[in-house]
Amino acid sequence: MNDIFPSGAGQFPGEGLKIISRCPVCHYQYNPVEAKVLDENDGAHLIYVKCKRCQSAVLALVMTNHLGITSIGLITDLDSYEVMKFADLSAVNEDDVLSIYQLLADDENLAQLALG
Ligand SMILES: [Zn+2]
Repeated sequence: MNDIFPSGAGQFPGEGLKIISRCPVCHYQYNPVEAKVLDENDGAHLIYVKCKRCQSAVLALVMTNHLGITSIGLITDLDSYEVMKFADLSAVNEDDVLSIYQLLADDENLAQLALG
């Protein structure tokens, strides 16, 4: 995932939102195939927008507070339902990584995975 907002975009009120109005991948003026608010909490909105032209999606967190509006956005290949699915899962920790390493270190396990 890439950061779609150039540094300093948050300095001017509305700059971040202006960038959201165009697809960051194909630069097409948004006529989104899908746009929805996935979550909102205490003045912060998690917004998902999918470009009709190139099917790339942007996930943006738009926050309003006494300083104005700030936003953080990134390009994602997730569908909107997947965003909420992964948001509810716990973070991957060191033990998870070691378990996968041990699983893959065993050639028999690898052969089983390859056979599906
Ligand atoms: Zn696009």
